[in-house]
Amino acid sequence: MAHIALEAAPHAHKDAPRISFVSLGCPKALVDSERIVTRLRAEGYELTRSHDGADLVIVNTCGFLDSAKAESLSAIGDALAENGKVVVTGCMGAEPEQIRAVHPGVLAVTGPQQYESVLAAVHAAVPPRHDPFLDLVPEQGIKLTPRHYAYLKISEGCNNRCTFCIIPKLRGDLVSRPLGEVMREAERLVKAGVKELLVISQDTSAYGVDIKYAPSLWREKERQARFYDLAEALGELGAWVRLHYVYPYPHVDRVMELMAAGTVLPYLDIPFQHANPDVLRRMRRPASQEKTLARVQAWRAAVPDLTLRSTFIVGFPGETEAEFEDLLGFLSEAELDRVGCFKFEPVAGAPANDIAPPVPEEVKAERYDRLMRLQQTVSARRLKRKVGTRQQVIIDSVTPAGAFGRTKGDAPEIDGRVRVASRRPLRVGEIATVKIEAADAYDLVGTAVGF
Ligand code: SF4
Repeated sequence: MAHIALEAAPHAHKDAPRISFVSLGCPKALVDSERIVTRLRAEGYELTRSHDGADLVIVNTCGFLDSAKAESLSAIGDALAENGKVVVTGCMGAEPEQIRAVHPGVLAVTGPQQYESVLAAVHAAVPPRHDPFLDLVPEQGIKLTPRHYAYLKISEGCNNRCTFCIIPKLRGDLVSRPLGEVMREAERLVKAGVKELLVISQDTSAYGVDIKYAPSLWREKERQARFYDLAEALGELGAWVRLHYVYPYPHVDRVMELMAAGTVLPYLDIPFQHANPDVLRRMRRPASQEKTLARVQAWRAAVPDLTLRSTFIVGFPGETEAEFEDLLGFLSEAELDRVGCFKFEPVAGAPANDIAPPVPEEVKAERYDRLMRLQQTVSARRLKRKVGTRQQVIIDSVTPAGAFGRTKGDAPEIDGRVRVASRRPLRVGEIATVKIEAADAYDLVGTAVGF
């Protein structure tokens, strides 16, 4: 869970209204934060690192799990104690009474993607000081992520109804952005120096379904708002393009062409959540009837260096030992590169809670350990295959202990990293060729070559 406080801009005006911004939650929430911040900067607000001394604090909350709600409430409490003027937005803002019950002193509570309401609340509390000559917004907006990668949100909401999830209740049905609009944003980001675009949404493979794949013109070609067409267009920008939250539908097969051609990264983040058909049915997962193992094998045949990342839930209500063992069997055969695992947590309001008897906590914990132990050996085996190869590595940070970066198979924050030794200083954001010398279950070590 990212918790980000923003740095003040170096050219901050001493009399400009100052906002402290806390962004909690997933990458999707981070994109919302970026949009709000971009607008605030455009209106002449400055951002400050601490609540103390700011004119107002905005807290972008996460309401996905109870633990995230608790973290959001505590961040709001801190902001009230340190500053007193607090506007709350984000997922938890969809349930304002929960926030007001604990913190009646907040100025305003707005829901996810309600940018205009957030701005209105800020204007009411701290009117903008407009100076069109001084308050220029960089072309790419103000980003909360490092400059060299950016999240690109292609839609809001979700048409699925997975029984463990309340996101559709909070965020509504799928609303896809027109392809031309997404591409213009992506192009602006790349022009501004972004080297890696991380495509996100609740269900990336469903892109365009709600707008009936409406075509738009981009680079003199009419393109439909479809998963493949968008991936193809993004691949023309020359940046790394990484696809997240994709489901294993048949139409996903076609992006293998783009990965094999090298225009889209050979990486897919597919939240399978389980492998047993009965559990998937109880979860009401999209694409639960697909022959996933065969599909994974066909993808690997087409793109041998494909990295597959996924997440799984253990201890879903009613999960039997045999169903869990099915999942372990799938993991052994599918040999996914990266796997995250969660113990089922009953989110208030999710239908899954009443579907079947809960799995006892100690059984959940035991299954979690078994899954992670198995996956560690699989991940280590997969990663070891990289030892001795040369990999393109995007440098994320340079520290006294060395430079750290990621291969095309590693997404920021969730996957592994590469510690890179180098004779010449490396710069954050550059893509270096690195000879890989060692690997463990998560990370790689190598030396920059070729200069
Ligand atoms: S796909 Fe399922 S888990 Fe993901 S947001 Fe939609 S309903 Fe929730």
